[in-house]
Amino acid sequence: MARYIGPVCRLCRREGAKLMLKGDRCYTEKCAVERRAYAPGQHGQRRGKLSDYGQQLREKQKVKRMYGLLEKQFRKYFEMADRKKGVTGEVLLQFLERRLDNAVYRMGFAANRAEARQLVRHGHFRLNGHKANIPSILVRPGDVVEVIQKSQGITRITEALESVDRRTIPGWLSVDKGDFRAKVNTLPERDDITMAIQEQLIVELYSK
Ligand code: SF4
Repeated sequence: MARYIGPVCRLCRREGAKLMLKGDRCYTEKCAVERRAYAPGQHGQRRGKLSDYGQQLREKQKVKRMYGLLEKQFRKYFEMADRKKGVTGEVLLQFLERRLDNAVYRMGFAANRAEARQLVRHGHFRLNGHKANIPSILVRPGDVVEVIQKSQGITRITEALESVDRRTIPGWLSVDKGDFRAKVNTLPERDDITMAIQEQLIVELYSK
């Protein structure tokens, strides 16, 4: 599946928000949003007030980039959420959170979602005892994700686990760092997503 491979700090600057796409660097003063809090490009400092459509578009782009998805995949999640009972925006976020690559990141086995996606693709995890190398698998309550035995010494995984305490592990997951294993306790709730997201704007954009 295609993915964005350009400079990621540009994306944060474009959205005017810390999308936490890099890992440790995002928590330091080297963060590009901290150093240059304006959009990239020649006219980045001149951008004026956004229209309603502009705000909706930027919100959608922000969330899409945060989860490392391209338009087609993101739209697919919206359509799935739209067909389901419940508040569409919240169901959309729940689908995004339940992706295996996001769950691996949230569990602390990777420093960021892009890394989580690569680790999943390379077959370093098992889901309920079975090989799981598809980042878009949706995890469910009761699922157990574990790092396979021979990957438990991988520096990227051990370093990510060591630094996971600087971001909290959400309540819908529980992690046993010593056993390189994590469990999905419940479906993620809206309150579990602490990033400032106005999902209603995304619903409005796609409902036009
Ligand atoms: Fe975004 Fe992290 Fe880069 Fe800061 S360091 S701009 S939060 S990716």
